[in-house]
Amino acid sequence: MNYADIKTIDIQDGTGIRVSIYVSGCHFHCKGCHNKEAWDYNYGKRFDNETINYIIDLMNHDYIAGLSILGGEPLEPTNQQELVSLVKKVKETYPNKNIWCYTGYDFDKDVLGKMYREFPFTKEFLDKIDIMVDGEFVEEKKLVDLKFRGSTNQRKIDVQESIKNGKTIELKFGDENRYEQAKNQKVSVFKQFEKETSFV
Ligand code: SF4
Repeated sequence: MNYADIKTIDIQDGTGIRVSIYVSGCHFHCKGCHNKEAWDYNYGKRFDNETINYIIDLMNHDYIAGLSILGGEPLEPTNQQELVSLVKKVKETYPNKNIWCYTGYDFDKDVLGKMYREFPFTKEFLDKIDIMVDGEFVEEKKLVDLKFRGSTNQRKIDVQESIKNGKTIELKFGDENRYEQAKNQKVSVFKQFEKETSFV
């Protein structure tokens, strides 16, 4: 596996201040993707033990809340296999820091429904992931101020609770409550308008 970039400080892709790695290779090719160069599996640098040790060093600060894994597509089977050693080392070294992973795959259908059953490395990988943001980026569903996701179809999923319960447990924090409220406000304004303009 190759990787496109490592960010030493990231405040967009998960809670708190984080270290992020962008892996190379993605077959989804979403319209409006910001990381097109990372579609190519050969883009960037080779991921190896040195990369893992570098990330572990970067995370060795109290202000670093965790690691975010993005792409490209971290859950391409070839990428997952190599990422297992990274997530294991992170959790072994920093059991109190969390790991977020972003994927274009659908968590219910593809991740739990297929990969988790078929690939032994998916189980090893998911065991160490706290939150997964799933789904392809859909440009028509993009809102600029969404938190920790690019389009409204994407979900923030509690991976460990989902595995335990055998179904997807979505986390509602960040922006969902705000959008729910805005939606309800629009409905009540519309009802008020209907009442005021009614001729009956
Ligand atoms: S899944 Fe992510 S990296 Fe892949 S094309 Fe879509 S937005 Fe880009």
